[in-house]
Amino acid sequence: MVNWLNKESKKLQRLPPYLFLEIDKAKRKARQEGRDIIDLGVGDPDQPTPAHIIEKLYQAARDPSTHRYALDQGLLGLRKAIAQWYVQRFNVQLDPETEILPLIGSKEGIAHFPLAFLNDGDYSLVPDPCYPPYKGGIILAGGKPYLMPLKEENAFLPDLKKIPLNIRRKAKLMYINYPNNPTASIAEEYFYKDVVSFANKNKIIVISDLAYSEIAYDGYRPSSFLEVEGAKDVGIEFHSLSKTYNMTGWRIGWACGNAKLVSALAKVKSNIDSGIFSAIQLAGIAALEGPEQQIKDMCQLYQERRDTLIRGLNSLGWYASAPKATFYVWLNIPKKTNASTSLRRHGARSRTTSSIKFSTLLLEKANIVVTPGVGFGKYGEGYIRMALTVSVERIREAVERLKRIL
Ligand SMILES: *Cc1c(COP(=O)(O)O)cnc(C)c1O
Repeated sequence: MVNWLNKESKKLQRLPPYLFLEIDKAKRKARQEGRDIIDLGVGDPDQPTPAHIIEKLYQAARDPSTHRYALDQGLLGLRKAIAQWYVQRFNVQLDPETEILPLIGSKEGIAHFPLAFLNDGDYSLVPDPCYPPYKGGIILAGGKPYLMPLKEENAFLPDLKKIPLNIRRKAKLMYINYPNNPTASIAEEYFYKDVVSFANKNKIIVISDLAYSEIAYDGYRPSSFLEVEGAKDVGIEFHSLSKTYNMTGWRIGWACGNAKLVSALAKVKSNIDSGIFSAIQLAGIAALEGPEQQIKDMCQLYQERRDTLIRGLNSLGWYASAPKATFYVWLNIPKKTNASTSLRRHGARSRTTSSIKFSTLLLEKANIVVTPGVGFGKYGEGYIRMALTVSVERIREAVERLKRIL
């Protein structure tokens, strides 16, 4: 063994452990055995990108002017389309020259942002459970995540009052994400107002992740953090075409908000990448300027799936309320069921492994894949996440299978 090749940096070693190994292994095995798996694990839309967006990519890719390096700051046309979209959707004014930065998917920007502001050992406030790149980006930048637990009794909002004074003073960044992955919870305006005043008082930069703003039900319209007065003085918002237009594989998103924050992120990125393929940016403009009906239809589809799943689970005595947004359902692991009894027989004792054990059990006994809550952080323990990214028929089938084992 050439041991000097094993000496990964301390930063890499400090990344949270990957907790899906067991599930991944079981999933591979099940697939190899040809079992009929229902995968409620992946947060990736199953529907195709709308045709007019694909058409625009075809056209744009045939134009040789798109084949060269793109501008680091993105096409002005795309930045203008984003600004226009923010006005129409949120009534928020953004300057396309200084307050908007296109990204190679919002994940990339979220993960690179801490490099612009953290020094070694600096604290950042992160919700837990959360989208994993928040913690990953902080740690890779040499920072330390300080966890803000998202608890059910608090509607899965962080309790800002509980953050100790010494941490508030030291923290540089704070992440918020509503509509939320993985808990599917939402934030009202008063929460964003609290965040703005907290940030001002403690000199903290706010990072709002708005990836799910367009996936909402029952007439609910999520708002943007930037709608609140003073938000642009303290924060940056990350957005993406991924979920709104079924474009996860295309890799296109953006950051917008405070010009200083946007330009610092641009500075980091100019040392790392060379922009988004221009043809994809042109297709992105077509997406943002396209018909809204497609988004409504998509939400209708997820809503039917959501209702089928929630009704089915409730009929099994597994109580869950219908989420108002995102395509996730965040569920308490049922306590008094045959499944948890057989779980104990399988050796699940400690709370630290129960969501993993329960997910493994669903895969073994029912060929259903779900995501164990602990994979999103320790406060996700005791929960699992199901994604509404399979058809109504498959959801019905999943409920039937659950009925047999619960
Ligand atoms: C899917 C998702 C994103 C979007 O990622 P892209 O890199 O833009 O595809 C961002 N934040 C959260 C919480 C997500 O679930």
